[in-house]
Amino acid sequence: MNSTERQIYLLNPREYSPEIIAVAFAKTSRSPESFRDIASDLNDEKSADFHEKWVVGYGHSSVAEHAVLHMAFENVSRLAVETIESNRLASYTEKSTRYQKWTAGAYYTPFEVTQAGLEKEYRKLTGMLFETYARSLEMCKVIVQGENPRKVEETEAIWERRIRSEYVDVCRFLLPAASLANLGMTANARVLEGMIRKMLSHPLDEVRAIGSQVKKVAVKEVPTLLKYADAMPYLVDTPALLSMDAQSVGLKAGRSSDWCTLLNWQPDGEDELIAAALFRFSGGSYEDALSRVKQFSPEQKQQVFEHLLGGLGKFDTPLRELEHITYTFAIVMDQGGYFEVKRHRMMTQTVQPLTSRLGYTIPVKVMQAGFYDDYCRAMDSVYEGYQRLEPALAEAVSYLIPNAFNRRVLLSMNFREAFNFCALRSASNAHFSVRRVARRVAEEIQKVHPMLGRYIQVSADETWQSVERDYFLQV
Ligand SMILES: Cc1cc2nc3c(=O)[nH]c(=O)nc-3n(C[C@H](O)[C@H](O)[C@H](O)COP(=O)(O)OP(=O)(O)OC[C@H]3O[C@@H](n4cnc5c(N)ncnc54)[C@H](O)[C@@H]3O)c2cc1C
Repeated sequence: MNSTERQIYLLNPREYSPEIIAVAFAKTSRSPESFRDIASDLNDEKSADFHEKWVVGYGHSSVAEHAVLHMAFENVSRLAVETIESNRLASYTEKSTRYQKWTAGAYYTPFEVTQAGLEKEYRKLTGMLFETYARSLEMCKVIVQGENPRKVEETEAIWERRIRSEYVDVCRFLLPAASLANLGMTANARVLEGMIRKMLSHPLDEVRAIGSQVKKVAVKEVPTLLKYADAMPYLVDTPALLSMDAQSVGLKAGRSSDWCTLLNWQPDGEDELIAAALFRFSGGSYEDALSRVKQFSPEQKQQVFEHLLGGLGKFDTPLRELEHITYTFAIVMDQGGYFEVKRHRMMTQTVQPLTSRLGYTIPVKVMQAGFYDDYCRAMDSVYEGYQRLEPALAEAVSYLIPNAFNRRVLLSMNFREAFNFCALRSASNAHFSVRRVARRVAEEIQKVHPMLGRYIQVSADETWQSVERDYFLQV
């Protein structure tokens, strides 16, 4: 075989362990050999020695990214799922609250509750939420069936599949963060190491226990790369210090005047983005590009945006230059909506703990289904239960909070991420909670950057105000 001939092939994970694959790739840095030859010369001991020396000893951590695992999680609380999915560089798919129904008792009872002797009260509240959820499914289903009659050619099962998400979307507001979920995660050993360290340092017992289990399971496949994944004093101590700082200046929970505020953006962002795009295709400096763009007429600027974004097909990703401008939003949204927003890994997200203090949302269909009183009674019981149990349970009180309650988040995103988020989450098949958020984010960007904002792919069939009016009695 000609040694300059192009070759592309797989290092088969059925043939080589993840740690061997990682070493085979790492060794190409110093070795002229082919990957096949390098890999065939390796065994588990040699790989372990290599990782001890280079990854652990010299901190060449990126080598661990070539060792990839697929982890299955079953019956973990949706609260714990938040920590699992906070690892940006991994991939996830989880049980959907829109396409599946939760059965009675499918919730987690945390150790903190048992330890505080509050199991009876906790179970009463979560049991009540699940029982109300089950009844709401029946009542909302009748309404949705009335609005979407069965077609002659449809079987009962096909009809149910067609309409299910419409009523399940409403009932899911009742599900608490303790609800159990399944999820699959694909991650490399470097991500797993960070995840295990984060989980072992977490204040919740369940999260720490999951972190230990992840380590136990993963270490069998990548023994050297995860050997030193332990709790981090920094992650244990820093939250406590910062919460003392916040308390000492009197920062308290409370509603904001507007549920969505664009806090930061680049006032000259449109010019800066055009300059970045032109910079890529010129030999000149960025400063020169920017000073010329500042002399452009509005029509010239619009034309560059047209070239940059006008040719995009429905499933196309725009050029990376769109990442040069960023926006920061403070948003209060219901927990169900946040659970979807949190999946957008290219954003920087800071989320406050779940609370009952920011009020709860009421979907319109709850009233139409004759369920308003039951729904509000359930939420009011959680509100009272939260106040009563918080002093004893601290963070673990979050397990009680249903998807209906509001949560405050800080989101920073570049325009490319905003573009993806708004298109995906304003689509008609998205849940109305997240459609409202996506449309508002689009509108705020369009206000400050109108020439650029017009390319955000949101349809004209609704606005965030119309979503609010048509789907919510209270937000
Ligand atoms: C109709 C619909 C149904 C859904 N149903 C479910 C469901 O049942 N269960 C469920 O768990 N989730 C579900 N989701 C969520 C979905 O799987 C995504 O997690 C979510 O939409 C975030 O999208 P994203 O990955 O494009 O966003 P981001 O994470 O913000 O990523 C932005 C872009 O960066 C790129 N990118 C980011 N990470 C990677 C990566 N690791 N590899 C390659 N490219 C990457 C991609 O181009 C991506 O579009 C659903 C979403 C939609 C729209």
